[in-house]
Amino acid sequence: MMASELFRRRARTRSLLGIACVIAALALPAAPALAADCPGNPGALGTSRTLVVDPREHPRIGTMQYAETLPLRDHEVVLTFDDGPLPRYSNAVLEILARECVQATFFVVGRMAKAYPEGVRRMRDAGHTIGTHSQNHPLSFNRMTAEQAKQEVDDGIASVAAALGSRAAIAPFFRIPGLLRAEAVESYLGSQGIQTWSADFPADDWRHISPEAVYSLALSRLQAKGRGVLLLHDIQPRTVAALPHILHELKARGFRIVHVVPATPDRPKTPTEPSQWRLHPVTEQVAISHWPKVPRFSYASAEMLPGPSIADLGLDIGRVPEPFDGLRHLARGQVPLPKPAPWPRQRSAETSTNLITFPIPAASLFSIPEKSQPEFRAMTRQPGKRAAHDTAPQTAQTEPRAIEISAAARPISGSAAIAPATLQRGPITVTARPRPLNH
Ligand SMILES: [Zn+2]
Repeated sequence: MMASELFRRRARTRSLLGIACVIAALALPAAPALAADCPGNPGALGTSRTLVVDPREHPRIGTMQYAETLPLRDHEVVLTFDDGPLPRYSNAVLEILARECVQATFFVVGRMAKAYPEGVRRMRDAGHTIGTHSQNHPLSFNRMTAEQAKQEVDDGIASVAAALGSRAAIAPFFRIPGLLRAEAVESYLGSQGIQTWSADFPADDWRHISPEAVYSLALSRLQAKGRGVLLLHDIQPRTVAALPHILHELKARGFRIVHVVPATPDRPKTPTEPSQWRLHPVTEQVAISHWPKVPRFSYASAEMLPGPSIADLGLDIGRVPEPFDGLRHLARGQVPLPKPAPWPRQRSAETSTNLITFPIPAASLFSIPEKSQPEFRAMTRQPGKRAAHDTAPQTAQTEPRAIEISAAARPISGSAAIAPATLQRGPITVTARPRPLNH
């Protein structure tokens, strides 16, 4: 994108400014109107609100790498700048932000703070949040020992604290150089109450690309996500060149800047719900599981099969009982017996000479080849006789006393008798005739 196009965009931006302001005012009547208070720039982007976070409750944020991110509303943006201070560019960034009354978060490198302590103090004096970004910015945090990582983190904080004259002026926010995360580093940071900041989208401003590309990437990625933490670098000339246009376009599109600060005993955290820390929280309206799926059947033809008639079900439709039919003649306190269900009822099968008849299977198909008739022996209690196992082992029994079906004649080795030995043979009567269904 050419610079001239950027300026045409800017002109269009200004024409849309009034509309955007009205929309923003309607959407957020309670938001502080800091933009209007911006000295010398009544049309400034401004900072819409301050978000106070507790790093111990949410130790890792930024959807580029973590499940959680800052609890921003739609069209809210947090600006972050890494690697400074480098006065030549960092001061220019500070001036651009001041002109728009925008508050950001700077992740300062310890070695840079040592070299340019005044640059860190300017950030603090302008009201920005100051986090740290290690002492030497090594791109090896993912390969370091825990001790090396600890050293880098601690030295960076110490250098920035020395520049500011106070450790209390540093927010417990840390961004790992190159976003080269490692569990050991994050665990150490968490143990120190330091929040690990990734980001929601970068603008690739550390690469050798044009300011127009930085502008375009920042806006397109933000637009795609709708809100989030933007990662920029205040030591890059392309960032300085792109930043005014980014801020103007944010305003034109109705985005709002959020300033993030850590909770302290005097400054309680902003109340939030856990779901707000997810960029796309799971809601009841969203289906979580997509299984099982209906398979894609391929039909050979679209011919419809005939549906069943209700007469095919064999129901006696005319005699379906009323729900409280049985209660009608009951006296108080009597429990009604359930009425017989209308289904299933035996129905005489209608025969027709037109029906296809199938051969009746031979009885031999269902016979058990080993035994033609199972052998049943019922047992009755033998009065007055003590249990055999109380007096003698079962091997001493002279009469057969266990329940026997035919299979019992072939005992499984190691198994014990399953009936008490006080039972003996007796007569058996079996009612084998099934009761008819239509009682
Ligand atoms: Zn960096």
